[in-house]
Amino acid sequence: MEKDQLIKGGEFLLKEAQAENTFIPEELDEEQQMIVQTCEDFLEAEVYPNLDRIDAQESGLMAELVTKAGELGLLGISVPEEYEGFNQNFLTNMRANESMGAANSFSVAFMCHTGIGTLPILYYGNEEQRQRYVPKLASGELKAAYCLTEPGAGSDANSGTTKATLSEDGKHYILNGAKMWITNGGFADVQTVFAKIDNDRVLSAFIIERDWDGVVINAEEKKMGIKGSSTTQIFYNDVKVPVENMLGKRGEGFRIALNILHIGRIKLGATVIGAAKRSTTQSVNYANERKQFGQLISNFGAIKHKLGEQVVQTFASESAVYRASKDVNDTIEAYMAEGMDHGEANIKGSAQFAIECALLKVLGSEALDYVVDESVQICGGMGFSSENPVDRNYRDSRINRIFEGTNEINRLLVVDTALKRAMKGEIDLFAKAKEVVDKLNEGADHVFELKSYYEDKRAAVQNFKDAVLMILGVSSEKFKRKFVFEQQIWMNISDMLIKLYAAESTLLRVEKLEKMKEESGENGMDLYKHILDVYTYDAAASIRKAGEDAINSFAEGKEQELLLNALARFTKVAPVNVRDARLAIADKLIEDNRYNF
Ligand SMILES: Cc1cc2nc3c(=O)[nH]c(=O)nc-3n(C[C@H](O)[C@H](O)[C@H](O)COP(=O)(O)OP(=O)(O)OC[C@H]3O[C@@H](n4cnc5c(N)ncnc54)[C@H](O)[C@@H]3O)c2cc1C
Repeated sequence: MEKDQLIKGGEFLLKEAQAENTFIPEELDEEQQMIVQTCEDFLEAEVYPNLDRIDAQESGLMAELVTKAGELGLLGISVPEEYEGFNQNFLTNMRANESMGAANSFSVAFMCHTGIGTLPILYYGNEEQRQRYVPKLASGELKAAYCLTEPGAGSDANSGTTKATLSEDGKHYILNGAKMWITNGGFADVQTVFAKIDNDRVLSAFIIERDWDGVVINAEEKKMGIKGSSTTQIFYNDVKVPVENMLGKRGEGFRIALNILHIGRIKLGATVIGAAKRSTTQSVNYANERKQFGQLISNFGAIKHKLGEQVVQTFASESAVYRASKDVNDTIEAYMAEGMDHGEANIKGSAQFAIECALLKVLGSEALDYVVDESVQICGGMGFSSENPVDRNYRDSRINRIFEGTNEINRLLVVDTALKRAMKGEIDLFAKAKEVVDKLNEGADHVFELKSYYEDKRAAVQNFKDAVLMILGVSSEKFKRKFVFEQQIWMNISDMLIKLYAAESTLLRVEKLEKMKEESGENGMDLYKHILDVYTYDAAASIRKAGEDAINSFAEGKEQELLLNALARFTKVAPVNVRDARLAIADKLIEDNRYNF
């Protein structure tokens, strides 16, 4: 597709998306499925049998597993052929990440190495730097880490105090400082380290090797979860970094850090799906074996509710991740078709979808936390036992809401990026918001009429968009420049956007899937419609609650009444028998004894 025909990041709020233009995971082709199979075979053979040894941090084991993944080509899936990789596209890479995401601590090491570890050099390195490091990173001969966070600089990453000063002979930067919470820190050979040159206001980036004098790796951190993942502090004491190891230009480090994080966020959105599917399977496996009151616990309605909801949340997150991944993928390919370099196209393509990347990170990490929490509950006392896999899943899931930008930072980013793009005129947000508000003031009523199944759902999603536009439009107008200080309202708006994107993505997927099934003479859409019904119904309630919280925070009197009434109309959806819908979904899960949707 031509670049100007492609949807832009954030435009989902303003345009009605079409199912036929939306990618759904059921469309993955044979080659992509083969890569998935290779990932899963590797995990079955090398990782799953060793999860306890990994969590005990058995000496050398994690590094050895990363090397083995490299030997199979799994570290170079998205690396271009000239750097000894397999040159697979963004979408394929996302699907591979989903599979690898099921592997607890190993998945963290893998994601760090292939993502924030390798990508800064691949995307921002000059040819000499790429040739020197990337083939060895793709083969697993070298392992990578990304060193941004410092004891005093977490969410405010640009406030770091690690300093680089040019040596008198101009051949080296002398680097001093401390980095904290560094994944793969205990064994990574190559580190992308962010530091400020002299008194610069912004960071620069450097490639540093662990064997260099002055690089001191601290002991492993003791953590709540992902216990097998190496996490250390790293100290830099007068480290001599050759000038040719600066990555990008002076002062470009913060931009590099942020751009790499956009990709990290959407990748995290994919990895948590792998983890959620596996945890759901483990829940149903237990529920199908455990008997109480003379019957399997999977017979109980309360347990079926949990199992059904695990599927609903996983399915919705998955629909959203693949929809966005294909949009990013197409944008990258369109840039490359114009002659843009692979690295630059990947950076620009993912940055274009910064809003979606941030919201997918929040959506997926919170869905996974729901899934693993209910997995523990379904397993009862055994869920609390370290002999049961769901105990590990529960502990390991929690980090996803903290790293790659906390979920608060990502929620703020969603709104901030949307507003900035609107102000630059890149998206027509304010005009659309005004249209919605003008209609309210004219007293136009919003009638909810039952039409066809998909028309109803499309109308519901469009109404959700109007709800967000109304609140965004009125509150930004009310607070003007001080809007940036209204974090609670931004959180509310972000929550609305996240639910809306997931609901729309689920709708587009189910609608397209039905078309695909019709064309191939298959039936069996009922379960998918149940998932869509439950998600839309719950999304409406969540959007209404977040919207009410926002409105009640800034409006009073007649205006408050007008906005609340409009919100109630915008979030009105057809009633759903959620009990029966979740029962049907759970019954399929119980019958298959695995996540198979
Ligand atoms: C296991 C693990 C692995 C990690 N791996 C890496 C790695 O490989 N490389 C790396 O560089 N870093 C890594 N990190 C660091 C991680 O990215 C940071 O922990 C994260 O960005 C949050 O920073 P912080 O811990 O300093 O929390 P803080 O920034 O101190 O945040 C504390 C709380 O305040 C909130 N908050 C902060 N600022 C704002 C604001 N402006 N508005 C509203 N709320 C705010 C946060 O959301 C959070 O709830 C890792 C962390 C962990 C725990």
